[in-house]
Amino acid sequence: MFRIDAVEAKGNGVFATQPIPASTLILSEAPIVTIPKFSHQERYSTLVLPQLQNLSAVQKRNFFELNSNFQDMRPIESITKTNAIPLGSAASMGGVFLKCSRFNHSCTANAAYHWNEDVEEEKVYSVRDIDDGEEITVNYLSDEVWALPGRERRRQIQEAYGFDCVCSRCMNGQAFGEGESDVRRTRLGDIDRAIGGGELIMTNPAKALSMCREALELLHKEEEAAPRLESVYYDAFQICICHGDVVRGSTFAKLAVEAKRSWQGDRASGLAKMEAFVRNPASHGLAFHTKKWYSGSTRAAGRLGQKDGEWLWRRTG
Ligand SMILES: [Zn+2]
Repeated sequence: MFRIDAVEAKGNGVFATQPIPASTLILSEAPIVTIPKFSHQERYSTLVLPQLQNLSAVQKRNFFELNSNFQDMRPIESITKTNAIPLGSAASMGGVFLKCSRFNHSCTANAAYHWNEDVEEEKVYSVRDIDDGEEITVNYLSDEVWALPGRERRRQIQEAYGFDCVCSRCMNGQAFGEGESDVRRTRLGDIDRAIGGGELIMTNPAKALSMCREALELLHKEEEAAPRLESVYYDAFQICICHGDVVRGSTFAKLAVEAKRSWQGDRASGLAKMEAFVRNPASHGLAFHTKKWYSGSTRAAGRLGQKDGEWLWRRTG
């Protein structure tokens, strides 16, 4: 499905060798080296060297052929810093992979990493249709860095990963002044902080829910839908269930499940837990914090399956 090839100004990259439809599992791989996420780079040699000694000669050679962006560091430190991927979004560990680490970053990626903790493998899924010959890219950035204006985003990429981002978004952004995308991403960052802080969900759920709706519209414009949709729908689920709206809560949980499934398929990790919230939204820890939006049982209203519209976002009544 892909080959690893040289890319100008990026070392190596991964290219599709056939058309890859959206939501395809491109690769599953276990790390060859793991390190605690926040360990200092000067400790990388001490942490990594014993692990390298357990590898075959071929694996060792492949490790030293990975991209290395920090010329002022020792090779093991530079390769580890350049290639380590967090093992999950809230991970305490990072891993270096012989293949997964070869994917270059893009601020508007056509594929995404997902750490499956059940099988302890990193998976790479396409999140858009990818053409034969097109470079397959993933997003390396945390949500906060992703939401920064282009200039600051590129500064942080250079600092963390040691390269100047030449993705289509950054290159076109410079040419077109980057204004609209910067405004959208800054707003998405603000929404993320406002909802993530938790207080707004408790004190002003109507505002929090309308922010979720706004976030979905902005994400569609940023062509970043698939992996991020899931967390917005999950936020909306939590807002509703927190105030006793089990009907909308169940509907949003269902949308979160569909979003998760749309890029990770039926065996996505955490899917069963989310499906349980579709059936019984009140089993969530935040359920009925208040009864402000109490809606009776899920069966009573019979709205399940309704995807959008004014009803779902509480725009009427
Ligand atoms: Zn970029």
